[in-house]
Amino acid sequence: MSDESKSKQIEKWLLLFADRVQEHSAYLTELDAAIGDADHGENLLHATNILRQKLVGRESALAQRTPEELLRLIGITLLNHIGGAAGPLYGSLFFHAANAAKQSNHSAALQLADVTAWFSNGLTGIQTRGMVTGGEKTMADTLLPVVQSLQQSVQTNGDIQSALAQARDAAHAGMSQTTALRATKGRASYHGARTIGHQDPGATSMYLLIETAAEVFGALERSQRAINY
Ligand code: ADP
Ligand code: MG
Repeated sequence: MSDESKSKQIEKWLLLFADRVQEHSAYLTELDAAIGDADHGENLLHATNILRQKLVGRESALAQRTPEELLRLIGITLLNHIGGAAGPLYGSLFFHAANAAKQSNHSAALQLADVTAWFSNGLTGIQTRGMVTGGEKTMADTLLPVVQSLQQSVQTNGDIQSALAQARDAAHAGMSQTTALRATKGRASYHGARTIGHQDPGATSMYLLIETAAEVFGALERSQRAINY
């Protein structure tokens, strides 16, 4: 388990996510070109670049933020700068995660229960905001199996590393399964049956968020598995 504070680990997570978005932004946009309006990669790249500046800027170096404050700052930044449908959804994820973080001890070492609470509350945020329950071909299809997997690991007293390895597998499966689905929410729903056979862009960026969480919180090596180019 890492000795770093929860806030420091959250910061590392989002910086790694920003790197991974940069690496895959063209692919995210390509996926969105097939069933949306070809802006998902650009939208996320723009927002995560702003987030990076906020996290590494001089102001941030002086600020000692609690996990709750940090998750809220991330939520506001993503809400304001991603734009489109995904902005409010990613914003909701982090606002709800911040609410979950409020209830835990800030100075204690990071536990699997913390990560589980952030993602399960975050999923509720997305489901409420997006009016999705699963199977609509959205980012929630990646997060739902992650939360189920994490909750099961908490119940069976699993260690954080194997829990996050399993959660990452669940995320990959959830993302891949969106290909066979027909979109019934968001802009993609206008394309109806033509969306079948295309992986959902939001489900793919959500996979990157989980993949990077697994690397930072679970101290896992980067997965060799492709995000399905
Ligand atoms: P826009 O569709 O406005 O251009 P983006 O391209 O940035 O926004 O994001 C599209 C992604 O947002 C989709 O791939 C999907 O995963 C997600 N999304 C859209 N609508 C919803 C919704 N109602 N609930 C959950 N996720 C959604
Ligand atoms: Mg779009």
